[in-house]
Amino acid sequence: MPELPEVQTVVNDLIRQKIIGKKIVKATLFWPKSIQDLTEIEFYQAISSLEIKKVERQGKYIVIYLDPFTLLIHLRMSGRLRITDKEDLSPHERVRFYLSDGRILQFIDQRKFGRLYLLKDPVQRLQKLGIDPLLATFTEICFVQLLNKKQKIKTLLLDQTLIAGLGNIYVDEALFEAKIHPEKLANQLTVLEKQNLHQAIGKVLRLAIENRGTSLGTNEGNFHSATGRRGKHAKRLKVYRRTGKPCFCCTTPIQRIKVNGRSTHFCPQCQPMNLRAAT
Ligand SMILES: [Zn+2]
Repeated sequence: MPELPEVQTVVNDLIRQKIIGKKIVKATLFWPKSIQDLTEIEFYQAISSLEIKKVERQGKYIVIYLDPFTLLIHLRMSGRLRITDKEDLSPHERVRFYLSDGRILQFIDQRKFGRLYLLKDPVQRLQKLGIDPLLATFTEICFVQLLNKKQKIKTLLLDQTLIAGLGNIYVDEALFEAKIHPEKLANQLTVLEKQNLHQAIGKVLRLAIENRGTSLGTNEGNFHSATGRRGKHAKRLKVYRRTGKPCFCCTTPIQRIKVNGRSTHFCPQCQPMNLRAAT
């Protein structure tokens, strides 16, 4: 599932592809359920002739400002955007936008969980998001306050209403980087652990963006950027989907457990549950 680095990669691509200033001439829905809360007719009427003013990321949303509407796109499991000058229908293409320069912006979604929201006021939806971990406002003080909960740290970091953009891959990687067991309670972390985790989150996300995100498998449902490229970060992952393989720090086999139903990867030696295990 695309997380913050993958969504940021798509947004960076759309900006580099110079879609800002172009108009959406018209749209075609191949799978109307990809559009939330609007009928096909309402969507077609609202979207046509709107100019793309700005594109950005908020949490895991791609936000396309189209005065007077805003289009929010959540890729969920397998959604992707592709910008192309070819008319071919891609397998699993759900929505197509025709741009004023002749190019096409496709929303492709093999598993159909992705959603597009065309809203007059996006604030109502976006204000539910927690703090973005790449903003300057995500300070150590702010992070420490969020951790004041009796909740497993892995579960807390996945809560989009607290911190927006992290998912299973980068939470596992950040916890490994900070040497914290994923089932430790957030409010029982030491000051040093909290500081390390704050730094680890930023480090892991920035490196993944540099590598243009993580593409895991080989099929079409895996992450591809808006120009159709795969991310290069998979080979840099230290624990995620490395079950049974030796830890890069200590050679202990990486373990997989479930934490609140989510598959979780960690090194039992580097990320001990209690201090005694570390000695
Ligand atoms: Zn280890």
